[in-house]
Amino acid sequence: MMTLISSTEMLQIARKNKYAVGAFNVHTLEMLQAVVEAAVETQSPLIIQSTVGTVKHLGPDYIAEAAKVAADRTGLPIALHLDHCTDFSTIVQCIRAGYTSVMIDASMFAFEENVERTLKVMEIALAAGVNVEAELGKVGGVEDDIVVAEHEALLADPEDCRLFIERTGVLTLAPAIGTAHGIYKGEPNIDFDRIAKIAEIVDVPLVLHGGSGIPAEQVKKAVALGMSKMNVATELRIAFSNAIKDVFAANVEENDPRKYMVPAKEAVKRLAIEKMELCGCIGKAGDLR
Ligand SMILES: [Zn+2]
Repeated sequence: MMTLISSTEMLQIARKNKYAVGAFNVHTLEMLQAVVEAAVETQSPLIIQSTVGTVKHLGPDYIAEAAKVAADRTGLPIALHLDHCTDFSTIVQCIRAGYTSVMIDASMFAFEENVERTLKVMEIALAAGVNVEAELGKVGGVEDDIVVAEHEALLADPEDCRLFIERTGVLTLAPAIGTAHGIYKGEPNIDFDRIAKIAEIVDVPLVLHGGSGIPAEQVKKAVALGMSKMNVATELRIAFSNAIKDVFAANVEENDPRKYMVPAKEAVKRLAIEKMELCGCIGKAGDLR
């Protein structure tokens, strides 16, 4: 029986081989199945993610059990990650349910406080064989209940990244480098020099947040420079919802959930495959075997 794996080794291999693993936020069973089918079709490693809001909506156990079924049925390297969590008890709950990776987002606090809060999570996560992702700087935009206005967004300082890893021992880092959550109004303003600098002095895998709507060439460049995980949330939600809207636009009387969930699932699957292509992780599932 294949089980969910920690994202630690998966991302270290991605970093070494210069590709990124697609990390997809899901909100329903169908969305989870869609990204799993994308991974099966392309033989890609996969990170299934949920935000704290979705954990509260569905329950961490329902999500974790569905992800475990996916790992077992497909035999693919699949990790289940908790995205942007600010609170310790939700992290513990998710680890107990079977999550294999968690993000402690203490980026709203000063450096020392961020170190303290990350260390606290590291202690329990490491004991459970669970990977920890932390954030430095502040990624702008809206993610669940976390709102960072444009003028409050703050890019991560490369030297701070090095020091933060030294202090916390964290094995996955999300440095703010100019991307934002949600949909970009214009083009994102990604600081590629900063990615290069951070990747040069830090050897842990780096995470690209705000993957929705970044132009293809810019994603490829960021990955080539050292981003090893790309988070995609908003675009998947839009694809899922639009497919459902189309069904109702054609037949407002439709009342069979399967009739609108099937096209919604298909839309999410197609988009996930597109993102995996940009990440360069297609066919890389075998790297973990
Ligand atoms: Zn994020």
